[in-house]
Amino acid sequence: MNTREPDHLNLLCDMAELTTIVTGNSDIETFLASTATLVAQHLKAHVCSIYLVEAMENRLVLRATQGLNPEAVNRVTMKSGEGLVGQCFKNGSIIREGNATQSPRFKYFDNTGEDPFNSFLCVPISSGVEKIGVLVVQHRELDHFTLFDERALRTAMTQLAGAIDNARFLMELGPEKPLEYQSGLPVFLKGEPGGTGSASGQVLISSQDRKSMLYGSNPSNTIFTGSDFKAAVDKTSQELKSLQARFARRLPESASLIFTAHFMILKDKNFTGRMAKLIDEGVQPVSAVKKVARKYIDLFSASPQAYMREKTVDVEDLSIRILSNFQNSNTQKKTVKGSIAVATEIYPSDILKLVADGIKGIILVGGGVTSHVAILSRSLQIPLIIADDPRLLNLPLETILLLDAAQGNIYFNPDKKTLELFKTKHQTEKQIKTQTMESRTFSRDKRQVTLLANINLLSEIRLAKELKAEGIGLYRTEFPFLIRTGFPSEAEQFLIYKQLFDQMDGMPTTVRTLDAGGEKTLAYSGYAREANPELGLRSIRFSLKHKEIFQTQIRAILRAAHGKKHIRLMFPLISSIDEFLEARQVVSDCTLDLEQEGIAHSNSLSVGMMIELPSVLSTIDEFAEIADFFAIGTNDLIQYMMGADRANKLVATHYIPYHPAVNRGINAIVKAADRKGIDVSVCGEMAHDPNYIPFLLGVGVRTLSVDPQFLPSVQKTIMALSLEEAAGYAKKMLAATRVRDAAKLLKTRPIP
Ligand code: PEP
Ligand code: MG
Repeated sequence: MNTREPDHLNLLCDMAELTTIVTGNSDIETFLASTATLVAQHLKAHVCSIYLVEAMENRLVLRATQGLNPEAVNRVTMKSGEGLVGQCFKNGSIIREGNATQSPRFKYFDNTGEDPFNSFLCVPISSGVEKIGVLVVQHRELDHFTLFDERALRTAMTQLAGAIDNARFLMELGPEKPLEYQSGLPVFLKGEPGGTGSASGQVLISSQDRKSMLYGSNPSNTIFTGSDFKAAVDKTSQELKSLQARFARRLPESASLIFTAHFMILKDKNFTGRMAKLIDEGVQPVSAVKKVARKYIDLFSASPQAYMREKTVDVEDLSIRILSNFQNSNTQKKTVKGSIAVATEIYPSDILKLVADGIKGIILVGGGVTSHVAILSRSLQIPLIIADDPRLLNLPLETILLLDAAQGNIYFNPDKKTLELFKTKHQTEKQIKTQTMESRTFSRDKRQVTLLANINLLSEIRLAKELKAEGIGLYRTEFPFLIRTGFPSEAEQFLIYKQLFDQMDGMPTTVRTLDAGGEKTLAYSGYAREANPELGLRSIRFSLKHKEIFQTQIRAILRAAHGKKHIRLMFPLISSIDEFLEARQVVSDCTLDLEQEGIAHSNSLSVGMMIELPSVLSTIDEFAEIADFFAIGTNDLIQYMMGADRANKLVATHYIPYHPAVNRGINAIVKAADRKGIDVSVCGEMAHDPNYIPFLLGVGVRTLSVDPQFLPSVQKTIMALSLEEAAGYAKKMLAATRVRDAAKLLKTRPIP
């Protein structure tokens, strides 16, 4: 065992700590220098240097070094592909040389003081799909760095990429700009990312803490009457209806679902009826609304049932809406369009309202963000940042804000250069998305591979089709369940699935039944707190325990699929043949019920399963006999094979997609499917990773399902790959029994 190995864990911990240092007031040069020092220290290297790419010039610039001549910082530059460093950047792959100066690719740069260093290890740094730079370590002795160093550095770079991307960006703003206060405002503030994309606009502070309208005692000077109350309730109802209508196309899953509870409460005799009664008895309308609302809230929040407790959110939102509708709407008429909203409290319906009014971005001050709000802002493509700085609530109204939601950065009164940089960044992202694609995908040796899309929201269908996906390989049905405070009804789900099938118009579409639990906990389900949620009541286990919820979903899918072709249904996280048969029995029972009830439905759905648990591997042939198709969910399969939480960075080095057990497992699944002539696809993240595509195609996978934005790059990879070469490579991979051998082989993959 390598004696330096224990240090690598410390390296990862230190890195994690380091990323938290990059706040608005920290000095970026110091951050990069500390990174270089830390890495050098942990790897016992004589040199550690960080090169970052300059977006405008497309060249690498030495930005920090430990061990080389400090004068070289900001002076040494190179083009992509130039020297070992440029090669590492260009190809996005690690370079490890035991005797670098002898390498034909080595290039000497004046003034670096580089001559005596023989061992060389260079790791690319990328943030998302964007390459941002490289980190290099060097040592005087020959053959100093090992595979362990390589792996540790790669993991460390994954952790650091976001922070380094920030640093790079801030450096491009120029050294003349101190990261200090600019007429009382910081130039930059770091928050928590809650969505993607960037936006700039004038600040719009949500005029008051909405909750205080309900809980505060602020007595109003205005006297309201019973008819004001009726008008406020009517206005609230109109407002909700119009919001719902406006979003019917843009966000079909939530438009009807998000307000169901609101409408029900609004019509409830015991709610608005009770308020009216109190007003008739002489209670001031505002007090009557508050009184009844608080009573309901107290009642719901004290309930032992989680789904009842969740309802407090709906009651609060609705009551605040009624209260704010007492006021003359003129007070609200600020220029919402094109601005950035800053608020302390945000409900899903607020986001819809703000977006309908033309808001460009949202900052949430303090508090957490519920999964609903995060998902909504993402799906509406509204940048959202959570920042815990009360100064944000007192910004002068003319302040211009720029949000970089992917990083969680807020820029105050950004100058032209900053705005330009973001514009360029935005355009590059757009270009990546709209790259032209062929409608079918063939490898270099003319073998066809089918590319499908994974989608979570109906609004993603458009992009998937634009990027020529040949169908949907995975529709995750969780969103409608996550967006609201209770389970969606059969009718509500039916409408969603029907839209999906209508829009796909005969193209193959695979719907996965609810994969609740784990990180996708439904708070109202009553199972919010489990010690090990990933090993808990998640996915098909949840559905089979709550058959009525499962049946509701299956009935909705069967009904929506009526008269449609190529619709497939699959169950997630199947662990045994018994479980698959039990789930499939529910489908048969629901079909029979619908038949007896005389309700139109489909009789011809293919019923398959996701392969996500190692427990199915030893009986995979038997599964292939009973399932209509397999979809390999490598995200979970690797997590459960390795016993390493897929979301826990501390165990990221244990999450090894090229582990011999994973390789052989995938091969066994594909071979079993081939023997029985059933379809098999891969829909986990491995499917879009160029490191693993050669292996997957090499063992015979011919269908990959990926997030729509990856379709162009995956197609490019496949087009440049020979499947015959891939098969030869996969054969060697399958022979490897040790992780280290597989890691070595990974580097020999046929790189397109
Ligand atoms: C997987 O586990 O690989 C998968 C595709 O499912 P999810 O990411 O939704 O768990
Ligand atoms: Mg999964």
